[in-house]
Amino acid sequence: MRFDVITLFPELFAPFLVSGVTRRAYESGLVEVKLWNPRDFAEGNYRRVDDRPFGGGPGMVMLAEPLALCLERIRADRLAASPGGAVSVPTVLFSPTGGALNHAAVEAWSASAGAVLICGRYEGIDQRFINAFVDHEISLGDFVLSGGEIAAMVLLDAVVRLQPGVLNDEGSHQFDSFNPALDGLLDCPHYTRPERWRGQTVPDILLSGNHAHIERWRRDQRLALTQRVRPELVTKARAQGLLGAGDEAFLTDLVENPDQDA
Ligand code: SAM
Repeated sequence: MRFDVITLFPELFAPFLVSGVTRRAYESGLVEVKLWNPRDFAEGNYRRVDDRPFGGGPGMVMLAEPLALCLERIRADRLAASPGGAVSVPTVLFSPTGGALNHAAVEAWSASAGAVLICGRYEGIDQRFINAFVDHEISLGDFVLSGGEIAAMVLLDAVVRLQPGVLNDEGSHQFDSFNPALDGLLDCPHYTRPERWRGQTVPDILLSGNHAHIERWRRDQRLALTQRVRPELVTKARAQGLLGAGDEAFLTDLVENPDQDA
């Protein structure tokens, strides 16, 4: 799997690629990340990568040509790296106007051969480059960042942790929130040492050693939390037949006694 990232600030990625549990994936080459600066493809002494918007108005717009030259170099580099192999991967632009990133999209990217990720800056990118080259636009949500670099890191991190062998405990992402292979519900609360911390204790059941009861308690916690903050996910799990009789009994009880602890 290979990701090429087009960014005016490649230095932002250096600490990201050498930190945390995903570091091994990058270091081992399981996931290859290549950084490309469109400024290296810009002309003139000043290597301009932006200019004022036609029609006036505030801010600057990223020039199409340095981005196009950069993308063409990436395609040539991919071809050289795998002669005869598949070099055509989608081109992704991070943009507030794109489709929202979610677990299903992350899983799809995780099963892919990679992509070219384009990080916008300033007011954005000349629309003609987007028309010519961009296959997908991805948004992190309804807010505006200064640049697409953090969005690219978000996508990389979410995708890379799903690769087999990346997490220390292989099973851990199975129980993460939103996993459709499980039930798509939210995760349960977690506790660790000490047993008493600043007046708060750990739920007794977690210290009981009764694994069947602990499993049921965790399931109930997941149901209660999801019902409270994301009820549509419970509805979806029900529609998919992913809730058992015990789950339904718990949820009915929750409706009748909303103040009880799960
Ligand atoms: N003028 C643009 C607008 O209002 O839609 C915002 C441009 S923003 C200042 C600069 C760059 O940050 C964008 O081109 C995009 O790459 C990135 N960006 C900003 N907000 C984002 C978001 N919510 N999701 C993904 N990328 C975002």
